Amino acid sequence: MPRSYVREARLRVAPKRERIRPIIERLAAEYPDAGIALRFRDPLQLLVSVMLSAQTTDVNVNRVTEKLFKKYRRPEDYLAVPVEELERDIYATGFYRQKAKALRGTMALLLADYDGRVPEDFDALLRLPGVARKTANVVSAERGNPQGIVVDTHVRRLSQRMGLTRQEDPVKIERDLIRIVPRPDWGRFPHLLIWHGRRVCDARRPRCEECPLALDLCPSSRVRA
Ligand code: SF4
Repeated sequence: MPRSYVREARLRVAPKRERIRPIIERLAAEYPDAGIALRFRDPLQLLVSVMLSAQTTDVNVNRVTEKLFKKYRRPEDYLAVPVEELERDIYATGFYRQKAKALRGTMALLLADYDGRVPEDFDALLRLPGVARKTANVVSAERGNPQGIVVDTHVRRLSQRMGLTRQEDPVKIERDLIRIVPRPDWGRFPHLLIWHGRRVCDARRPRCEECPLALDLCPSSRVRA
C-alpha cells in the first residue's frame, strides 16, 4: 500500500463541497495550461501512449513514441511484426513484455470488433486487454468526454491532503471526487492536481508557503494565517 496522506489533514477548514470550486479556480488561475504531457495525434496514438505510460514518466513515453508512431500507424502494424520486435521497440518504457502483450491483444480486438478504431464508449474501452479504469478515464477525458476522474499518485496524495477524501483505494477516491467536483471539470481537475503536485505539493516537502490554497482551503497546510 502506498504512503497515506489522510492524517496530514488536521486544520479546520470549510466543508469540502464549499471549498471545491475555489480550489479549482485558484489552481486554474495558477496553471492555465495544465494538460496532458503525452504527445499524440489521434485516438490510437493516445490509447497506445497511455498504455505505455504505466510505471514510467510521460517524458520517457514521448521519447519512445516519437519513433514508434512512425513505424506503427494502424492496429495491423502492431500485429504484423514478431512480438519480440514490438518488445524491443517499447523496451525503454519498462514492463515491455506485458505492455507488448496488452498492445497486441488490444489491436486484435480493435480490428475484430471496432473496424480498427478506438471506441468512444467507456465500457468498450474497458474491454480492451490491458486497459484498466485509469487508462479508459484518460482516453475518454482527452477525447472531450470524461466519464470519471483520473486518480494517479498525485491526485491521490493531493486529494487526501486537501481533505477531499479519506479513502486509500483509487476507485473509492474517484467515487468521492465525482460527488463533489462539478462534471464540466472532471477532465481538467486531475491535470490541475498533477501540475500542482509536481510543482508545489511535493510528496516529501510540500511548499505550502508558495501554495495559493494554504491559508483557507487546505487542512494540511504547514503555514498559518
Ligand atoms: S502545498 Fe498546498 S495543497 Fe499541498 S499541503 Fe501545502 S497547502 Fe496543502
